[in-house]
Amino acid sequence: PQPNPEAGAAVKAADRAHVFHSWSAQELIDPLAVAGAEGSYFWDYDGRRYLDFTSGLVYTNVGYQHPKVVAAIQEQAARMTTFAPAFAVEARSEAARLIAERTPGDLDKIFFTNGGADANEHAVRMARLHTGRPKVLSAYRSYHGGTQQAINLTGDPRRWASDTASQGVVHFWAPFLYRSRFYAETEEQECARALEHLETTITFEGPSTIAAILLETIPGTAGIMVPPAGYLAGVRELCDKYGIVLILDEVMAGFGRTGKWFAADLYDVVPDLMTFAKGVNSGYVPLGGVAISGAIAETFGKRAYPGGLTYSGHPLACAAAVATINAMEEEGIVENAARLGETVLGPGLCELAERHPSVGDVRGVGMFWAVELVRNRETREPLVPYNAAGEANAPMAAFAAAAKEGGLWPFVNMNRTHVVPPCTVSEAELKEGLAVLDAALSVADQHVE
Ligand code: PLP
Repeated sequence: PQPNPEAGAAVKAADRAHVFHSWSAQELIDPLAVAGAEGSYFWDYDGRRYLDFTSGLVYTNVGYQHPKVVAAIQEQAARMTTFAPAFAVEARSEAARLIAERTPGDLDKIFFTNGGADANEHAVRMARLHTGRPKVLSAYRSYHGGTQQAINLTGDPRRWASDTASQGVVHFWAPFLYRSRFYAETEEQECARALEHLETTITFEGPSTIAAILLETIPGTAGIMVPPAGYLAGVRELCDKYGIVLILDEVMAGFGRTGKWFAADLYDVVPDLMTFAKGVNSGYVPLGGVAISGAIAETFGKRAYPGGLTYSGHPLACAAAVATINAMEEEGIVENAARLGETVLGPGLCELAERHPSVGDVRGVGMFWAVELVRNRETREPLVPYNAAGEANAPMAAFAAAAKEGGLWPFVNMNRTHVVPPCTVSEAELKEGLAVLDAALSVADQHVE
């Protein structure tokens, strides 16, 4: 791409004058002006190219500008750009069929939303109406979206400012051996004690008051904590025992990210409701949804579901989903994520952990990995405190700056970097990225005590 700094300056100036950015103190941010993107890379107006180890916000699972998805959007725009949700429309019907064929068990009906947060809003509404119960249990160390109910269900600091309307939400601790709340020393102990804690929470809250348990199958932004074998099956059992709806949030973990179509496939667990967004069409056009079990769909068989959206199943977004799913199937993209996760990315990150004292833990699967940075491997003190900002966050900022300097755009959250490239990434690109991370971790190592 030809550098064009003047055009970049104009883009930046209009952004700074008029765009109000998510989750940010508006005067303290400095967004990069992006000129273009393709595959695993994007570039700025100065001609600097970055290997994107973030997949945007963990959503461009087929990379940027996948030609089949771009063509499908163009064709749909030419044929029928939009149509109201009450009609049967080819792109919508086909997207629903392709998704329902891949979701586990009898999750055969699809309610489309605009993204992940509203998918969770609707899943919770369905669960409350289906059970006639008010409460929802969700985990600390979770993210479920930025709208009112979804942010209340979230278990990270983004919730705090919006906690005025947390009615009916109760948080519990899900398993995470590296920072165990249960004094566990093995995954088996962590699993058993986390389940015991969840059942106690249910007992004390009152099973007859709990509509749903909402969990990310593998928590994403909160740290990619792959649950121990048996945990999700145990949660499923508790839900069955107490008549509680199990909602799995696969907004980030779904559509190939873990090397399976859905993370639930890793555990053979079938939820009653499953929410998705992001990877369903690699975010080329906003789309999310809820996959609904037979029993819950039946609740709304003769009785109207009290919810809807102008853009539910938007044809342009659905055409992008159809093309994305077909491309993933034709090109073996899910298998690519599984194979390179197991043979290149996982081993490569573990090898970095051996040489860099700032790496406390490496965990993940497929193209879904977290590297946890610490000041001290013995005490596991995080490299920066929980929710650090400004000077307190300087070591992580220095790590991120070093990665960018090396041509890699890293995903950084608190004391972690998440390694979440597109599922289409090549072995050579992963090796290129691992080499940049190697150099950036040497900067983090300087803060080890
Ligand atoms: N659920 C999970 C697990 C997520 O990671 C996200 C977004 O990062 C959401 C829900 C919210 O999705 P959206 O930003 O599309 O509303």
